[in-house]
Amino acid sequence: MKIIPIIKATSVGCNLRCAYCFYRSTDQNKVTPMPQAVLQKLIEETIKANPKCAEFDWLGGEPTLAGVDFFDEVVSIQSHYRLPNQVVTNKLQTNGTMLNERWVKFLIANDFHLGISIDGPPELHDIYRRDNGDNPTALKVLNSIKLLQELGHKRWGTITVITDQNVDYPEVIYNFFRSVGITKMAFNPTKGTNESGKQIAIAPSPTAYGNFMCRIFDRWCNEDNPESFTVSCRDSWGANTVSVHFLGSASNSFPSTIMETLIRVRMIILMKGGASGMYLKVGNL
Ligand code: SF4
Repeated sequence: MKIIPIIKATSVGCNLRCAYCFYRSTDQNKVTPMPQAVLQKLIEETIKANPKCAEFDWLGGEPTLAGVDFFDEVVSIQSHYRLPNQVVTNKLQTNGTMLNERWVKFLIANDFHLGISIDGPPELHDIYRRDNGDNPTALKVLNSIKLLQELGHKRWGTITVITDQNVDYPEVIYNFFRSVGITKMAFNPTKGTNESGKQIAIAPSPTAYGNFMCRIFDRWCNEDNPESFTVSCRDSWGANTVSVHFLGSASNSFPSTIMETLIRVRMIILMKGGASGMYLKVGNL
């Protein structure tokens, strides 16, 4: 069995205060990077448990608050314990507000896969994704994306949280993302409840989210861009794992009508909340 640790490098500490954040009721000013001894043990055990391929997922809070030096240490501990011929990968999910040239060069040099959180164009993103002083954050995220592109990072994509505010604008979001050169995107509904199990009013209904993904699919199909990219989504309402990936160019792989039928069937299942663990891939990657 493969074990992938999901590591909160800075615990729940974050420089943003997104309205739907799971950690809103905690003290997000407190940034406590993982102690060195814990980090070392975690890496050693993960590498031992996954002799072929060891993967590390770095999340937060905001993991970049731990600093480049922290991740430099991560990489050197991994090299120390790495077995001959073992593949070691790192994925980092960031709010994208603090990347600079030093960060991006480090991420490229060490082959980190990157997920950037962005909820659409600034007028949609900034509704819920504001910093700890209630300032908008979209322009900082877009600057980070530009930096990734200019310095030639290849392994990154975006994750968009779908809420009551952006669920009606799939085409606006898709077109905006394509206009700024985003080629790999994921759309996840915000969780309906916070960590205490309390209902969060800003979650979209399953039906609204299903409609959103159908319209994203239509836009993706119509664009039919041969450039390879992925659009994915998952069900965050319950324990079910439901994932849909559109990969590559629409017409290069399947007739779009077949794809459309497949995706709509999948979305109907998703909306009904069934189909535990089902997974569909459409495309040519
Ligand atoms: S960036 Fe992530 S951890 Fe920080 S407030 Fe937003 S959702 Fe929470």
